[in-house]
Amino acid sequence: MSRKAKGIGLLSGGLDSILAVKVLQDQNVDLIGLTFVTPFFGPEQGMAAGTMAGVQTRALDISEVHLEMLKNPRYGYGSKLNPCIDCHGLMLREAAKILAREGADFLFTGEVLAQRPMSQRRDALRSVEKLSGLRGRILRPLSAKLLAPTIVEQEGLIDRSMLLAIQGRSRRPQRELARQYGLKDYPQPGGGCMLTDESFANRLRKLLEIFPEASAADAEIIKWGRAFLLAKDTICMVGRNESENLRLEALARARDIVLKACDYPGPTSLILAPSQPFDLETAASLSASYGDAPQDTLVRIAWRAGGAGKDGAAGHLLARSAPRQSFKNLLI
Ligand code: SF4
Repeated sequence: MSRKAKGIGLLSGGLDSILAVKVLQDQNVDLIGLTFVTPFFGPEQGMAAGTMAGVQTRALDISEVHLEMLKNPRYGYGSKLNPCIDCHGLMLREAAKILAREGADFLFTGEVLAQRPMSQRRDALRSVEKLSGLRGRILRPLSAKLLAPTIVEQEGLIDRSMLLAIQGRSRRPQRELARQYGLKDYPQPGGGCMLTDESFANRLRKLLEIFPEASAADAEIIKWGRAFLLAKDTICMVGRNESENLRLEALARARDIVLKACDYPGPTSLILAPSQPFDLETAASLSASYGDAPQDTLVRIAWRAGGAGKDGAAGHLLARSAPRQSFKNLLI
């Protein structure tokens, strides 16, 4: 081999990405791990995978660019609001920028041919490669022998004979490989991406319908609490516990409206960036009804524009606590 190759691995956090690192560590290569942050998935699993695989890993926040992609994915959505092909393509495109900066030779992933119906078909892997703008530089060590040789293999920087030919949905080869590498307590597949969660996907779809220009900050807010659709097409989030209440207060921007009951313990509610006039009365009723006030009590609700400690419009109004059932048709 002419020189030591340098590769950047995209670590989703699953066993496959850990194994991809392990397979490459059997060769004389320098490896870096990379994982991503958006409102829909965090870096925790990818960082943990990096630790388990023994590779230094960094997290890259791609929230805004990911949301823009999500609004109009070229290859569409999976079963929920998960644009997996475009998402992979975007991650690889972002990783390609780091590849250029680091002077690395290739990117690699733990993708396994035909393991997932949407994003890991042979044509999907090609589409992802096309979207990434990095043709021939994306190595999938677990399935490499079933795919066209990459440039690093052709150049002899990576020994193709040491790569694998795993394909299909069975997890047995990966479990056997994990055993050979002495990996224990590794993560189980699935989970981790809120875009595959039906109830969150419904909220997000509604948000994007109301605010096509929604930002990552808007997407972050609708993760916390119950979501209600009020009149005038406004979304109101109602915290379900102390931690969600604190989170909503912290996330409120100047253009959001925050409500809180004055005389009884109750939730923090947040009307998301309403256009004027907005449905303050229903939001106040929600705050009254989801708090501790006895049913049919008049509750004083304080509201203010903007987050905690910020100056802005503010006021009080009275709202009657009603059975929660009566708001069921507003739930998103
Ligand atoms: S499941 Fe989520 S994180 Fe994974 S590729 Fe699909 S959209 Fe991206």
